[in-house]
Amino acid sequence: KLYNQVQDLKGNIRVYCRVRPFLGRQSNATNTVDCIEEGTISINTPPKYGKGRRSFSFNKIFGPSATQEEVFEDTRPLIRSVLDGYNVCIFAYGQTGSGKTHTMSGPKDLTESNQGVNYRALGDLFLLAEQRKGTFQYDVSVQMIEIYNEQLSGYGNEGRLLTERSQVRFLIHPGFTGFALSCPRAGAGSGFPRNWWHGGLGAPCVQVGLPRATFRPMGAAYGVPGDSYVGQIRNNSQNGFNVPEASLVRVSSTFDVIDLMNLGQRNRAVGATALNDRSSRSHSCLTVHVQGRDLTSGGVLRGCMHLVDLAGSERVDKSEVTGDRLKEAQHINKSLSALGDVISSLAQRNAHVPYRNSKLTQLLQDSLGGQAKTLMFVHISPELDAVGETLSTLKFAERVA
Ligand code: ADP
Ligand code: MG
Repeated sequence: KLYNQVQDLKGNIRVYCRVRPFLGRQSNATNTVDCIEEGTISINTPPKYGKGRRSFSFNKIFGPSATQEEVFEDTRPLIRSVLDGYNVCIFAYGQTGSGKTHTMSGPKDLTESNQGVNYRALGDLFLLAEQRKGTFQYDVSVQMIEIYNEQLSGYGNEGRLLTERSQVRFLIHPGFTGFALSCPRAGAGSGFPRNWWHGGLGAPCVQVGLPRATFRPMGAAYGVPGDSYVGQIRNNSQNGFNVPEASLVRVSSTFDVIDLMNLGQRNRAVGATALNDRSSRSHSCLTVHVQGRDLTSGGVLRGCMHLVDLAGSERVDKSEVTGDRLKEAQHINKSLSALGDVISSLAQRNAHVPYRNSKLTQLLQDSLGGQAKTLMFVHISPELDAVGETLSTLKFAERVA
């Protein structure tokens, strides 16, 4: 109810700010966050940045001690609305290291209690779908897309990555022969019952030391080196804007999603070996398509949720980088400012919304504006030496709030 009131006042856009705690040995470091009060955060700024103190207001602010659970609690109403047929976008914005992936996915040592928004959102979807099963029958499918240098690739695909510019990139090792194999991970130490390992024929389970795991071919050959697939954004009346070549995988439980996200993480990581930590320089989008059939009327509802871990927002010093690094920085800059432009023109109810300025905003066009709901998590680091980025992040957020 409160959420609807907020919506009436602010339209369909909400902005939450999250402050990362100090990490490890940093407890004596200088904190730029002066205080957090209700929806206002004050930042101490060194003389170089002017005034000495600046305040910013948002719909909600999570301090360094906020738990994953608390953060998700304020995200929940959006999940329900996906099942009601609304489109939803949830973004994580901030400089590299500020906690975007922590909020969306969780830390590396993932447990049930530190899972991020992605897992919890899917968990809620299945739970609500189950509660409604007497009246609605829901189908849920998931797609993972990465946007790097304004190129799209589907990284949740079995056995291959798609890139707009062409070639199939094989995963795990170069001897890959065209089949994706998987086996359940024995004795799942992670607390998750099923994990997929992928690789070439016969190789993967040996590599991970699972002697008696069973192999299951995932289907036909997924391609041979040199094959090309073109990933383009299409407008498809059923699913809106979409990248049809990226697998849309039907899921029926949180475990399926965990499997798929692990696969996606692995695909991304492997694809990135040549580049240094590409994940911080690409946008990753987990899209959940929900279709609900009303069992009495036969009517069909469609909703969709995009969970987007954005590329790091830090500005790079143009005098220090060249070549690929400069190109990456320019693409990131362009797409983040395109996103800011779209959201702020929606917030101001402008007649023209500039969706076409980046692949990201094109891809999400159906889920930004209109009836769709948007939640932007902006992340800041508490350290004094990050204050420049912190201020620019908060200014970005202020503009879209
Ligand atoms: P980003 O994705 O923005 O680059 P990460 O999510 O990877 O940043 O966070 C950087 C580091 O800080 C990671 O080790 C992460 O686990 C840790 N971290 C971030 N946010 C929190 C938090 N709220 N609580 C505890 N640790 C956090
Ligand atoms: Mg990250």
